[in-house]
Amino acid sequence: MLVTASIPELRAALAPRRALGPVGFVPTMGALHEGHLSLVRIARAEAATVVVSIFVNPLQFGPSEDLAKYPRTLEADLALLRKEGVDAVFAPAAAEFYPPGFATTVHVADVSEGGEGAVRPGHFVGVATVVAKLFHAVGPDVAVFGRKDLQQAAVVRRMIEDLAFPVRLVVAPVSREEDGLARSSRNVYLSADERRTAAAFPRALFSAARRIEGGEPVPAAQDRARRELEEAGFAVDYAEVVDPVTMRPTGSAPGAALAAAVRLGKIRLLDNVSIEGPR
Ligand code: AMP
Repeated sequence: MLVTASIPELRAALAPRRALGPVGFVPTMGALHEGHLSLVRIARAEAATVVVSIFVNPLQFGPSEDLAKYPRTLEADLALLRKEGVDAVFAPAAAEFYPPGFATTVHVADVSEGGEGAVRPGHFVGVATVVAKLFHAVGPDVAVFGRKDLQQAAVVRRMIEDLAFPVRLVVAPVSREEDGLARSSRNVYLSADERRTAAAFPRALFSAARRIEGGEPVPAAQDRARRELEEAGFAVDYAEVVDPVTMRPTGSAPGAALAAAVRLGKIRLLDNVSIEGPR
């Protein structure tokens, strides 16, 4: 497994492999868990060569967010990726990836504005910029993103189309712990008490989705989900039924998603569940 921080070295290693078949790519910020590995396995099944990037992208963190404290576990990450048969890991240094004078950003309008975009101004400019630059560095045929970050996948889908990246986007299902909590690198910050409470988050989302499928109007289901979450001890940033492509609020159309972000103490949790439409 090649491990490199250098774009030229990565490109040189990938060049002869392109004849073997598609290059698959999984961008991550490291602190890898089973959710990330589920993406790697999809890439492995779809591509002859699998590249994973590990880069805690400063551009997508706000000034008061947890960039400095974000978990960094490079050696453990590399061991996991070796076991998955990954071909190359690209782990650039921030100072090199964004050299002095770096001035180019990618803003994907509309789909970036609501949800996470409203709570975290500038976040999706950081995401789109790093993904565009990573795509240029890796040159993937297939890129795998997680549905856990529903809006991120929507932003990347829009950017791929608008900027004509020759990349096929694959969105992997949300990988969950046994009690339903979506896996996240940030879950390690939860105290034992908070970890127990956290299971109420997916529970409230799944029950609202099932009620909508049973015919409950979307606004009533959203309100009740919000109330249940607040009663369980969460502060709710948003809990909204959206079209997963445009990220606009929508009625109970099949294929919609209930997307939500909550805070538990200092930890922010993000999740979404699909709605199959009223039966
Ligand atoms: P991150 O390291 O948090 O930036 O995540 C890297 C990729 O893994 C993104 O495409 C995430 O959506 C995806 N991912 C993270 N957690 C999960 C999860 N629990 N289920 C599915 N995908 C995930």
